[in-house]
Amino acid sequence: MPVDHIAYQALKKYCDDRGVQLIAVSKTKPNEDILSLYENGHRAFGENYVQELTKKYEDLPKDIQWHFIGHLQSNKIKYIAPFVSLIHGVDSLKLLQAIDKEAKKINKIIPCLLQVHIAQEESKFGFDVEELRLAATEIFSEKRFANVSVVGLMGMASFTDDHQKLQSEFQQLKSSYDEIKSTYQTEAISFNTLSMGMSGDYKTAIECGSNMVRIGSTLFGARSYNVKS
Ligand SMILES: *Cc1c(COP(=O)(O)O)cnc(C)c1O
Repeated sequence: MPVDHIAYQALKKYCDDRGVQLIAVSKTKPNEDILSLYENGHRAFGENYVQELTKKYEDLPKDIQWHFIGHLQSNKIKYIAPFVSLIHGVDSLKLLQAIDKEAKKINKIIPCLLQVHIAQEESKFGFDVEELRLAATEIFSEKRFANVSVVGLMGMASFTDDHQKLQSEFQQLKSSYDEIKSTYQTEAISFNTLSMGMSGDYKTAIECGSNMVRIGSTLFGARSYNVKS
């Protein structure tokens, strides 16, 4: 299926009007699809798999901003560290520490988001609210990690059409975000990114305060294999 440029223009406008950054999630999709949006001026793309991302990075224009949105394994950080723009799914301090270590080796500061567990499903990764508070203390008060910059939070809501349920999950994430922002504002001046919302729920996410959405199937069509993890 070709890229839906009409959907892209509409979505881009919807996001621009609300000050929301659009990340086009291109996992499992071919380079042609990415180039097709690139030629329209789009630069921010999201990928879930390290091997797929490094291959695409090699093959595609170097001014693409690559967002890693999948579950990252510590032993694979080194492959994306040199070029990744933002790592969305940091779900433990152990992983943050491993990213910090790789970034230090190459003398970089890597922007990261902490992933917060907001959905009721068991399988979703992330910090819960209490763990997040503790993590924020270590990151912002104790300044334990010199080579990562934690610039915000990311979350995935339950897979449901239930508007109220989505709203309550997104609101929970927004309030954690506001709490960290107001507590650490002076130390963490660049804490400004709230990545929430996908094809099925981005309008609700934006209503609840998201300023970054990760959209795949609305732009590129359904994926041919199930990549939800
Ligand atoms: C695949 C994926 C998306 C995009 O999902 P769509 O429903 O296709 O928009 C967004 N965020 C994450 C973390 C994903 O894995």
